[in-house]
Amino acid sequence: MKVVVIGCGYVGLGTGLALALTGHEVAFVDLDEARVSRLARGRAPFYEPGLAEALHAARNRTRFTTDYRQALDRAEASFIAVGTPPTPEGAADLSFLRKAADGLAENAAGGGLLVAVKSTVPPGTTRALAGRLERRRPDVAWQVAANPEFLRQGHVLEDSLYPFRFVVGADRAETADRLERLYGKLIHGDFPTPTFVAGPNPSQPQDSPTLPRAVPVFRTSPETAELAKYAANAFLAARISLINEIANICDLVGADVVEVAGVVGSDPRVGPRFLGAGLGYGGSCLPKDVLALCRLAEKVGYAPRLLRAVHRVNADQPGRIIARLDRLLDGLGGTRVALLGLSFKAGTADLRGAPSLGLVSGLVARGAEVRIHDPVALDGVRGILPAGASGCASVGRAFTEADAAILATEWPEYQDLDWPGLRRRMCRPVLMDCRNALDPVRMTEAGFVYVGVGRGDTVGPRGRPAATVETAREPNLLDDHTL
Ligand code: NAD
Repeated sequence: MKVVVIGCGYVGLGTGLALALTGHEVAFVDLDEARVSRLARGRAPFYEPGLAEALHAARNRTRFTTDYRQALDRAEASFIAVGTPPTPEGAADLSFLRKAADGLAENAAGGGLLVAVKSTVPPGTTRALAGRLERRRPDVAWQVAANPEFLRQGHVLEDSLYPFRFVVGADRAETADRLERLYGKLIHGDFPTPTFVAGPNPSQPQDSPTLPRAVPVFRTSPETAELAKYAANAFLAARISLINEIANICDLVGADVVEVAGVVGSDPRVGPRFLGAGLGYGGSCLPKDVLALCRLAEKVGYAPRLLRAVHRVNADQPGRIIARLDRLLDGLGGTRVALLGLSFKAGTADLRGAPSLGLVSGLVARGAEVRIHDPVALDGVRGILPAGASGCASVGRAFTEADAAILATEWPEYQDLDWPGLRRRMCRPVLMDCRNALDPVRMTEAGFVYVGVGRGDTVGPRGRPAATVETAREPNLLDDHTL
């Protein structure tokens, strides 16, 4: 089928390339000329594993343009994957979506056109968009569906080719049927695994030795599909805030949150994933979607107390870490801090909503100089870093004469650093592992005073918390529980 994808970001490229690699002809349209011209030359516009290879593999079935009319020529289906960033009040900004709808209305050729809304939008948006299209172009037989996306940055191609589920929110069965047919090969895993992805997601069940079981398709109303996307992100965010709250309590009672999470996650009703305590969630989705869900709940007369708390716990987490480092160093003024990792998570260069940025500005505000290393996210970062923070091309440079080091993003390559050598470069030995990603015993043996999140301030020889600043203050635990 001839398909148009509007928006060449993570979602648009993931969706469009997966469709092209399963036999469809895909025209991508984006208003960003520089991005389109890069893509037209076969070059990835941002860091994402496998993207350059996927663009190459799909080159004969893809084209890139800024011109809606050209893209829509003979198209039968379109996917809207433009951004829905937060407004200053925290609601979803739908202006890009409106513009995309107008691009469709002004340039659709006539006949019928399927429109799938992949962008994350508040309930009611897809229905309103369908109305707008019908009013503007009554001659076109529009078939509009909400079709939210669940991919993870850093796994865009893997998740687009092997999704956990499809959600199709449409009033008419005919619209849902058409969208399902379009996704047919992806639903049935009926295509050779490309070399640039590992293969089906391990959690996808396999029925037959040749074909993975069909990906579940949830057919719902547009409003249910739209809300399901917000709900999915709200659940993920809530898990992170809940484990961070548990971690903060662990610190005060001398318990280890990694072990606590192991125990809790072994219950199949809970499961082990998304239970990593640390700096909090970030990125372009979770923070904005939690706030947008709060806004839309309030708009319809419901006070979302739990969701507001999820956001607050997350927003406070970098500040707690800064306060802790301040105590450990006896004041941050005049200190030098090495920061490992700036992107909001490993596998992406995306800095949108990165909690590390809050960490950097908080440290600088308290008088520290921050030297940052990131394997991919330092390009063009100069304009967004405060004075007092700078990027370093090597980890060694960031650690030189540092009073403390912070691991902020769990890039796998940081596991294999020469940690004893890095320790020797520092003035003082404090290492704050804000992702609980490093082995405390190894770090202690390398000469560091290792501090995780929710694990006590220092770790003794067998990996057990030895003495913690906070537990050393002897919390009032025994007041209520005197034996
Ligand atoms: P992005 O910011 O990476 O890309 C959006 C692209 O759309 C940009 O290239 C921009 O130039 C283009 N664009 C904006 N307005 C346009 C218009 N009128 N016509 C053509 N192009 C236009 O966005 P993204 O991260 O891919 O996210 C897109 C949507 O999907 C958002 O609603 C987001 O919440 C949702 N989502 C994102 C992810 C993710 O991991 N990034 C996952 C699931 C859902």
